[in-house]
Amino acid sequence: MEHGRVLKSVKQFEECLEENPEFERLRITDQDEDGALLFSCDWLTPQGTCKDYKNRLDLCRKFPSPAMQRRGYTLPKECGYRFVYAKPFERALRKALREERRRRKDDLDGESGEA
Ligand code: SF4
Repeated sequence: MEHGRVLKSVKQFEECLEENPEFERLRITDQDEDGALLFSCDWLTPQGTCKDYKNRLDLCRKFPSPAMQRRGYTLPKECGYRFVYAKPFERALRKALREERRRRKDDLDGESGEA
């Protein structure tokens, strides 16, 4: 996954490596049922931690990115992260409409109160 793009071939990964040599630590291990390449990382310790977490890849810092979800990518079952909507869309829309009505009412009240 690069900038929300799912890599599906060795060629795509090699192109990605040319632009991002720091991805050298990643090893292709498999492909999922959608064809997305799966990777292991040389920096992963036997304890399941990053050997240099402070200097981990930018990709790791941003994982899981909202772009992944927008593109329909699902997280592996064993992943500890979950995508959760902070607010249902309908609730955000109702709030925006309430605020807009209040703003218009305030504008009208302000106009009628002018001398
Ligand atoms: S957090 Fe560390 S071990 Fe995990 S993928 Fe990134 S660089 Fe590799």
